[in-house]
Amino acid sequence: MLERTFTIGIDFDDVLIASADRTTELYNELYGTHLTRDDWYDDPSITAPWAVDSFSEVVSRVVEVHSMKKFENVQPIKDARRVLQKLKDAGHTLIIITGRPVVLRTQTEQLVEKYYKDIVSTLYFTDHFSHEGERVSKGDIASTLGLTHFIDDVIQHANDVARIGVKTILFSDNYKWNQARADKGVIRLKSWQEIGEFFSEEERHAV
Ligand SMILES: [Mg+2]
Repeated sequence: MLERTFTIGIDFDDVLIASADRTTELYNELYGTHLTRDDWYDDPSITAPWAVDSFSEVVSRVVEVHSMKKFENVQPIKDARRVLQKLKDAGHTLIIITGRPVVLRTQTEQLVEKYYKDIVSTLYFTDHFSHEGERVSKGDIASTLGLTHFIDDVIQHANDVARIGVKTILFSDNYKWNQARADKGVIRLKSWQEIGEFFSEEERHAV
């Protein structure tokens, strides 16, 4: 039986903001590449379209792009704010768990302030990419925080968290990088509209 109030962990990039779109746009401006959103991939072997020799170069360039003032013009994901506001008003706790490194704390907090002000209670950095800070598994954080639900666009993170029994949504707005099959139990939803409907249903089943 579900608790009446939920503790929901939410990834940031490409779940709350359209990061891959804006990142590839700025990267193209800086490096003369022709990346599209579909080149965004959590796979260290795919470096060719990024005009680099190693995945670590992609990572440092992406961190650089995320640090740029111009990155502020990234768009929020459609309907996310509306759905989150409703969940917050219903008394649920919303926590951002991002794979970003902690060096992007200020920029990330500014974006949260810009689009999700007064909705999110905490922000955790797990440093999935740069490995400059302490890398934390999202499964471990989910367990420590006692999440009831979790939303991410990366299959590996979704699997990690679903494995410990947290109800997990894989958010996939036709994202090329997460079309592979996720573990059993991971729920694939393609819009915040659908996520909102999912939680209305969850609330109906809660005690
Ligand atoms: Mg993400």
